[in-house]
Amino acid sequence: MNDSTHSGLTVTRFAPSPTGHLHIGGARTALFCWAFAKRTGGKFILRIEDTDLARSSEESARGIMEDLAWLGIEWDEGPVLRHLGGQRPIGGDPRHVGPFFQAQRLALYNQYIESLVRAGRAYPAFETGDDLEVKRKAATAAKKTYRYERPADVQPGVFNEDRWQQACRGDAHVVRFLAPHEQIVVPDQVLGDVKIAPGELDDFVIRKADGMPTYHFAVVIDDELMGVTHVLRAQEHLANTPRHVAMQKALRRTDTGAPFRTPLYGHMPLIFNMDGSKMSKRDKAKIARASLKAAMQKDPSLTPASLAMTLGIDEAALTGFIAADNDALDTAERIARHLKIALPEIEVSDFRGNGYLPGAIVNFLALLGWNPGLKTQDGKDLEKFDAAFIADHFDLARIGKANAKFDRNKLLSFNAEAIGALTAAEFARRWMEWLAEFEPEIHAKASRLSAEQLTILAGALKPRAKTLRDALRPAAFALAGDDEYTFDAAAVEKNLLSADRAGMKLLVEFRGRLDTVEPWTPEAITAAIDAFAKEKGMPNPGGIAQPLRVALTGAGVSPGLGETMAVLGKASSLRRIDRCVQTHGA
Ligand code: GLU
Repeated sequence: MNDSTHSGLTVTRFAPSPTGHLHIGGARTALFCWAFAKRTGGKFILRIEDTDLARSSEESARGIMEDLAWLGIEWDEGPVLRHLGGQRPIGGDPRHVGPFFQAQRLALYNQYIESLVRAGRAYPAFETGDDLEVKRKAATAAKKTYRYERPADVQPGVFNEDRWQQACRGDAHVVRFLAPHEQIVVPDQVLGDVKIAPGELDDFVIRKADGMPTYHFAVVIDDELMGVTHVLRAQEHLANTPRHVAMQKALRRTDTGAPFRTPLYGHMPLIFNMDGSKMSKRDKAKIARASLKAAMQKDPSLTPASLAMTLGIDEAALTGFIAADNDALDTAERIARHLKIALPEIEVSDFRGNGYLPGAIVNFLALLGWNPGLKTQDGKDLEKFDAAFIADHFDLARIGKANAKFDRNKLLSFNAEAIGALTAAEFARRWMEWLAEFEPEIHAKASRLSAEQLTILAGALKPRAKTLRDALRPAAFALAGDDEYTFDAAAVEKNLLSADRAGMKLLVEFRGRLDTVEPWTPEAITAAIDAFAKEKGMPNPGGIAQPLRVALTGAGVSPGLGETMAVLGKASSLRRIDRCVQTHGA
C-alpha cells in the first residue's frame, strides 16, 4: 500500500440522490455495499446526495431511508433514522465524518474548490449558457463532438488570480477542473483496470453557477473525507469515474496535506428487463403510454382533450406524454388507474405496496449480478439464502460482468416460497402490518377478528397468496359483514337452485346439524361435513360443500370450509346460511 491507497478498515457507501423513491437497482447497490462491509468487518455509510436543490426533497430522503430499513439494509454511519417499528435508531456519526447530507457540506466543498484554484488545477469560467450553446451547435453542424475549449489565459499549475478576483467580485461563473493530459486508470474490481487515453477529458464543471458543487466534485471530496475504500455502484457511472480519478490525483487534504486516495471501484452489471430493454423508472410511462394509445385506437371518441379532462391533467402535458416528450409518473399513474392496468413494479415502495417480503427481495437482489458459487445437496446452484448468509459470503470476485436479468416470475416464486415458510401466526402478523400501511380500511375490518380467528384465516390464506396483496381476495368473505356480501348469481344457480333445488335442500338439512357441532374448530366442522356427505352417499363432500360455500361467502371459491366456518364463528355461519335460504327460498 502506498499513501494514495487505503489501508485498514473497509468503508463502503450508498449515495442516493433524494429525487424520488428508492429504485430497485439502487437497493441492489445498497445491498452489495452493505454486504461487502459486513463481510470484511468494515463500515457501511449512507450519504444523501442532495446538491440538486430543485429536485431533492427531505421527504424522498426519508422514504429512501425507510425502504432501506425495511429491507434490513442498515447503515453504520449516516443520517439518523428513527423509524416506526424499529427497535433502535439507525445511523450516527461515530468517526465524525458527517454531516451526511451534501447540502450541509458546502463550506467544505468551497474550501476544496479554492485550494484547487490556487494550485492552478481549477479556474472560474465566465461564458454564459448561451455562449456555450452556440459553440455546441456549431460543433454538431460540423459533425464534431463538442468539447469545452480551455481559455488561452488558463495554464495548468498556475493560479489565475484575475479570474479568481473576478469570481469573488460576484460575476456569474462556474468553476472548471483543469483536466490533465495523461492516461487515467480506473482500478475496477469487476471489470479490471479501465484505461482512458490522454486528452479524453475536457475541463468539466465542478461548481455550478448557483454555487453548488457538481455531483462529480462532491462525490470525490466526500469519498475521501469519509474514508471510503470501495466504491461499488452500477455501470452507468463508469463513464464518470475517470473524472473522479483525475480529481483525486489533483487534490490534497486541507487538514493533513496528504494526497487524496483513489478508492477501489466495482462497477456492477446493469439490470435489464426480460425483453432485453434496460430496466428504468421510465418503464411505467412506457406501459401507460402504450395502453393509452391502444385504448385511443380502439375508441376514436377518446381524444387528448377528453382524456385530459377525465384524468384531471393539463392537455398539453398529456399530449407531451403521449408523444413521449415527458415521462411524468403522475400521468402514468392516473392513466393506469383509469384504464385499470397495473404498472410494472420498479421502486422498492412498489414491491412493498404489492406485498412482497423484504427477505425475498433481498435474496433476489443478491442474485442480480452475484452468486455465492455454491451448490445445494442435489447439485443445483445455491440460490436461496438470507441476509445473514449474504453478509457472510459476499465477495467482489463473484460479481459478474454480464448484464443482470430482472426475472419477475422468479422474484414472485421467491416471495411465494417465503410466504409459505411463515407460520400462520407470523403470516397473520405481517399481513396485518401490511394492511395497516397499505389498506387501512381493510385493516380496520380485519382488526375485528380475534387473534384465534385471524390465525385460522392466515393458515387458509397462506397457500393462496404469492404476495400479501394476493390474500385480499380469498380473505374478503371474512371481512364483509354477514349481510354485506353479494351472491354470485351463476354460483347460486349451479350449486343451489339447479336440479330442482337439490343443493338448497341439502343446505337446509345440513343447517339443522350445525347446532350440535362442538367444538367449533376446522377439524370438527370438516368431520361434520364428511359425515353428512357419507350418510347421503355422495361420492365426495363437494355435494354439500359447494352449496355451503355459496351460502357462506356468496361465491363458489373459498378457502377450505372448515377454516372458512371457523373463522366466521358459529353464529355468523348460521346467520349467513339463513340469509341465503331467505334470499333464494328454501
Ligand atoms: N448520487 C449518485 C446517484 O444517485 C451516486 C452515484 C455514486 O454512487 O457515486 O446516482
